[in-house]
Amino acid sequence: MLQLDFHPTGRHFLQIPGPSPVPDRILRAMSLPTIDHRGPEFGALGLQVLSGIKKIFKTKHPVVIYPSSGTGAWEAALANTLSPSDHVLMYETGHFASLWQKMATRLGLTTEFLAWSGSDEHLPHAPSWRRGVQADLIEARLAKDTEKKIKAVCVVHNETSTGVTSDIASVRRAIDAAGHPALLMVDSISGLASADFRHDEWGVDVTISGSQKGLMLPPGISFNALSPRALEASKSARLPRAFWAWDEIVEMNKDGYWPYTPNTNLLYGLAESLDMLLGEGLDKVFARHQRWAAGVRAAVEAWGLPIQCADPAVYSPVLTGVITPEGVDADALRRLIHQRFDLSLGTGLGKLKGRMFRMGHLGDSNDLTLVAMVAGVEMGLKLSGVKLAASGVQATMDHFASHAAPAALQKAA
Ligand SMILES: *Cc1c(COP(=O)(O)O)cnc(C)c1O
Repeated sequence: MLQLDFHPTGRHFLQIPGPSPVPDRILRAMSLPTIDHRGPEFGALGLQVLSGIKKIFKTKHPVVIYPSSGTGAWEAALANTLSPSDHVLMYETGHFASLWQKMATRLGLTTEFLAWSGSDEHLPHAPSWRRGVQADLIEARLAKDTEKKIKAVCVVHNETSTGVTSDIASVRRAIDAAGHPALLMVDSISGLASADFRHDEWGVDVTISGSQKGLMLPPGISFNALSPRALEASKSARLPRAFWAWDEIVEMNKDGYWPYTPNTNLLYGLAESLDMLLGEGLDKVFARHQRWAAGVRAAVEAWGLPIQCADPAVYSPVLTGVITPEGVDADALRRLIHQRFDLSLGTGLGKLKGRMFRMGHLGDSNDLTLVAMVAGVEMGLKLSGVKLAASGVQATMDHFASHAAPAALQKAA
């Protein structure tokens, strides 16, 4: 057995915004025996998950599933569609957008990183890390690109480092308004299956996602949802790719197989996750996360602390970032909460290090687990000497009690 030096009773509160808590149903499905990935049962499983996952992305076109973390699927999106030194326009919403931009540079692409440059009282060094993508900036930049040198626009749908969800339809409108042929690539690694996402309707060319956030699976599989234009671009793109190449995978996927050994047990988990999410209905899944997010934000507002996302129109339904008061190290606070209450919170990433922490409200959660999370944070804040305006626990309880979940989400009386 794995040796841990601490075996607490009860369960660990995994409240980071991914990996999210995995439902027991999915863990049990994953414990089935591993089967022959070239045998007949596997083909049936492959076809089932490849068709189900399209409903989650809301696409009629192929979705490629990789045995990798989300980072691999970022690389796959770029390597399949672009050529060395192609110009890509990316948008700085936070740490994940920054990592993707770094990766594009390492792959030999010429990247341009747009950011909102207004002023921000709490984070003067990173104002664009508190807001969503400003589509007008993208439109203005594309309009100036009369030679059509920009080959792709890359944005993050739900910026997991900040708790801001960008309006992807507005980015598509901006590209169309500029009459520009650039491909639209969207990282919805943490948005998919928690926040509304529509690959076809929003005209996305490649959507990148991963298993360990809204899909409620452990880490280990990732996705590229494609458009016909992305598939067309892949025929002439010249960045080197072999493992990530779409063509062989899409061809073999027609019969439910892969050119290499896929992640069999995670695909059992994916089949179970699709059953759960599609059985509930995506609109209800999205409403459930919005309601949870509002309940958690009620606590932050009661405490009197600033929410990382400065624009209420784009609050994330997946996680809430909280800025700590000047002089309170958010990582020291997280350590204390972990030691005392066995509750893990997300750290401040990149430019936000030590200045904020993140509370996840995704995966296998419910009203009471979220009240418990808020209670753990509130105790930690008090122990750290933070003066709170009012009880966040009370505010979250009041919110959930007075905003009943739709009847469809409640147990029968
Ligand atoms: C989690 C995440 C990633 C990174 O995915 P890995 O699975 O850790 O490689 C990238 N972008 C966003 C928005 C994420 O939430």
